Amino acid sequence: MTDSSIKTQCPYCGVGCGLEVSPPAAPGKAVNRDSQGNPVWKVKGDRHHPSSQGMVCVKGATVAESIDRDRLRYPMLRESLDQPFRRASWDEALDLIANRLKTVCDESGANATCMYGSGQMQTEEYYVAQKLLKGCLGTNNFDSNSRLCMSSAVAGYVQSLGSDGPPCCYEDLDLTDCAFIIGSNTAECHPIVFNRLQKHHKRNHHVKLIVVDPRRTPTAEVADLHLAIQPGTDIDLLNGIGYLLLQWGEIDRSFIDECTSKFSDFAEVVQHYPPQEVAKRCGISAKEVELAARYWSESKRVLSLWSQGVNQSSEGTAKVCSLINLHLLTGQIGKPGCGPFSLTGQPNAMGGREVGGLAHLLPGYRSVSNAQHRQELEHLWQLPPGQISPSPGRTAWDIIRGLETGEVQFLWVVATNPAVSLPDLERVKAALAKSPFTVCQDAYYPTETTAYAHVLLPAAQWGEKTGVMTNSERVVTLCSAFRSPVGEAKPDWEIISQVARRIGFGNKFAFTSSAQVYAEYVQVTRDRPCDMTGLSHERLLADGPTQWPCPDRGNASPKRLYTDLRFPTADGRAKFSACHSQGLAEPADPEYPFVLTTGRLYGHWHTQTRTGRIDKIKQMHPEPFMEIHPRDARTLGIEDNQWVEVRSRRGIAQFPAKITSAIAPNTVFVPMHWGYLWADKSEANALTHPKSCPHSLQPELKACAVQIVPLAVK
Ligand code: SF4
Repeated sequence: MTDSSIKTQCPYCGVGCGLEVSPPAAPGKAVNRDSQGNPVWKVKGDRHHPSSQGMVCVKGATVAESIDRDRLRYPMLRESLDQPFRRASWDEALDLIANRLKTVCDESGANATCMYGSGQMQTEEYYVAQKLLKGCLGTNNFDSNSRLCMSSAVAGYVQSLGSDGPPCCYEDLDLTDCAFIIGSNTAECHPIVFNRLQKHHKRNHHVKLIVVDPRRTPTAEVADLHLAIQPGTDIDLLNGIGYLLLQWGEIDRSFIDECTSKFSDFAEVVQHYPPQEVAKRCGISAKEVELAARYWSESKRVLSLWSQGVNQSSEGTAKVCSLINLHLLTGQIGKPGCGPFSLTGQPNAMGGREVGGLAHLLPGYRSVSNAQHRQELEHLWQLPPGQISPSPGRTAWDIIRGLETGEVQFLWVVATNPAVSLPDLERVKAALAKSPFTVCQDAYYPTETTAYAHVLLPAAQWGEKTGVMTNSERVVTLCSAFRSPVGEAKPDWEIISQVARRIGFGNKFAFTSSAQVYAEYVQVTRDRPCDMTGLSHERLLADGPTQWPCPDRGNASPKRLYTDLRFPTADGRAKFSACHSQGLAEPADPEYPFVLTTGRLYGHWHTQTRTGRIDKIKQMHPEPFMEIHPRDARTLGIEDNQWVEVRSRRGIAQFPAKITSAIAPNTVFVPMHWGYLWADKSEANALTHPKSCPHSLQPELKACAVQIVPLAVK
């Protein structure tokens, strides 16, 4: 445990704010305590962190309160789900896991095993997991909750630009002439990014802010133009803006000619999107479509920001590509103040992408379907040729399907809570209950998912382990430990390495520190788009947060990607990837006449595993609710705060109604944070469906058709 302050990154959202953490008791000062009397480490924003410059939101400011609450302190085992857990030693638990893993691999093949991880994992932890599953075991069945978060952004970047990786940086928030925010309630979900943008917007009258969202969110409240489109009509709007820019000749012809391909395909598609037609489909006026296009055309630098409203869609990749098309059309990429900029959900989802933490990826922005990429890693990992499978592994939803069919016989869940976060929860819970063997490796107990575990492994969490995280602008921060893990908890990289050693891969997992893991990892990024061979724990500690690419050849890396206007595609050109809108996978119909949309609140984080244990945040958001438009509430005879039952084709949930014109008619909104531990029968994902984007395989968690039934006063 350190007795001086240390620097780290906030473990919540992908903004990745820098924090400075100091001990609960400074010399001569009173001990800082929470409401239960526990000493609490003091947290403030790190003024020297390049991404956040000292700013911090309520989540970051209160995170230290959660460290000691409801922790899993030692390994626990049980034979079956109807038995209580009993305490076990690490040796017993790790031997059991290793033996079971070997048996399943021997009897049913490595593809019967799966690991489901999370953007909470540090880069080193992701790396050892990829090396064990994709390398040593020979199965690509590692997926993470990033599948639910930004896999459409990954697929869209790859399809349009040739590689994943947001091309922009936060400095662009200070330089843009027009911020186009689509499918993101940035003010609540990425507050420090929004603060920075809002300051720029307020100071500079020429700067425009366009917000595209079916809800009038706090982000939309301060916009110059709020386009409250119908859920599922994003592509119509984007193609409609493209139509007008093309009609007006407000395009960058030389960029299109010299740096892009497939422009004529795009021009052919968007000619079907005149403003009147787009307005009708989107439920807004033609004037609003024209004004959005006008703001684009009058701005030299348009910065597009997006998040789950675009990604969590059955056509998520197409939405991302349609947005990138507008940047290619206007040549607004690779330059200050403009470009397509996805906002990452998790604190290290970017690190997970770099290290191949999705079922179709390999470390160093490689793909399992690329023979050369597989060979490169087999060489680096000293594996026999052909060891890495060319088949993509099971995605989050495929793991559930595999449990249902019995094809998955070993499930290892690390730092995530699928019994709240996956869609169609009744089906998910039934599948988890069928799992023959589930390991749950988490810092907290209970979570909704630990109810389905046979083995619980206590993981060290933020502040108790040292490792690296990358934020949305590719800034890599060393997150230093400042205290010892509670109880017998261990860092995830160490737990995974210990299992690997027990099943015979000792020479490949002889790591004794996360710094060693990181040193090996950066070598696999050599000459890749995310080259970070110049980084090490030592350098990050000495120099502070550093942006990639950062090769070991010295020189500061460029802040933005594609500044030379060359793209990592076969012909060096970015590709227009145009398509027609398919709409929602499950639109409203006479039987289920409302569209449910889900989202996040300012204080809570995901499934509340941490924030549900922080007093201030619980007071801020004491219970879930359902927003409904006054007109719909009147029609259904619903009063404010009256409980309603929301029914979809898959499940039922109950909420108090919040009547507000912030939500459009025929649409209702429910926050996604509550699992049954926090509010029984108010699980948003009991209602949602698993239909996914065919390219990113990201489920459409944002929208489904529902009925609303008022309940008698509770
Ligand atoms: Fe943490 Fe995100 Fe808040 Fe920054 S904006 S303090 S990273 S939750």
